[in-house]
Amino acid sequence: MKHLELRDVEFHYEDGTKALNGVSMALEEGDKVAIIGPNGAGKSTLLHLIAGFRTPFSGEVRIGGKLLDHRNADLLRKDLGLLFQDPDDQIFMPTVEEDVAFGPRNLKLEDIEGRVANGLRSTGIEALAKRRPHRLSYGMKKRVALAGIMAMDPKVLLLDEPTSGLDPRSRTELIKLLKSMNRTMLIATHDIEAAAEIVDRAIVLNVGVVTEGTMKELVTAKDVLENIGLEVPPVSKLFGVLDAMGYEVESLPVSMDQAVEELTKVIDREGKHLHAHIHEHDHTKGGKHVHEHSRGRKEESVVE
Ligand code: ADP
Repeated sequence: MKHLELRDVEFHYEDGTKALNGVSMALEEGDKVAIIGPNGAGKSTLLHLIAGFRTPFSGEVRIGGKLLDHRNADLLRKDLGLLFQDPDDQIFMPTVEEDVAFGPRNLKLEDIEGRVANGLRSTGIEALAKRRPHRLSYGMKKRVALAGIMAMDPKVLLLDEPTSGLDPRSRTELIKLLKSMNRTMLIATHDIEAAAEIVDRAIVLNVGVVTEGTMKELVTAKDVLENIGLEVPPVSKLFGVLDAMGYEVESLPVSMDQAVEELTKVIDREGKHLHAHIHEHDHTKGGKHVHEHSRGRKEESVVE
């Protein structure tokens, strides 16, 4: 059964702004999917509709097969955890553990203590339990907000720009955390590199669904991202150049981790060449030498 399904969802705001047009998508249990799109593409609106904060003008949202409507929104909302873009909109209790306990308490769930412990453990912030959340760094606040959601053990995690506003280290740590979580996830973001680390596939949204595919497919497909005002990451462009130069690039990497992996393969294939070039070849003396490629190809070059 589909964990989350949208069929032909349309939504416009009271002032007439059309935010979503004919949006359909489906997530199976355990799927991690990114919604990629520029500012104003309708990403937050989409998450808010799924979370039951707003009602679609037309179309359907189904959670665990059940149609979401104003009568059952409270019930179905228990299966969804929405991480707001700004943690300050989500955190308001005086201590971290009280804040994490707020959601489960509000939903009248059992074993609050166990749930708080789980929330803190799954986000790696046990040590912060007694701290005042508003004094924490922005990255840690995001974790507190996420811990509060995890404490409710939702079936589907909805994450609105989870990496925005984080310093590089907090960003890397959050990516690692989300990657390690085994849960159905829908992540709205324009951080293409982060998405590439976390998700299996992405849906490109610009009011309507533009296309869908793996992040590698999206950066390879010419102009898809650029047409909607998003940039292909520099590392993907760089490997595009390497490919054009004749190096066998299997698939364009999107993130730095993927680039290191791909580069290792390229070096393995071209191994002797690169090894000889870096370690055996003295540029200061000049002369002629032979690069021997791992594929048996030989190439002569003259060094000035
Ligand atoms: P994203 O999250 O992709 O940046 P949003 O869902 O926030 O996009 O916004 C989609 C569109 O809806 C934008 O044109 C935005 O200006 C508009 N919008 C968002 N919130 C409101 C609102 N409360 N009232 C009117 N228009 C809104």
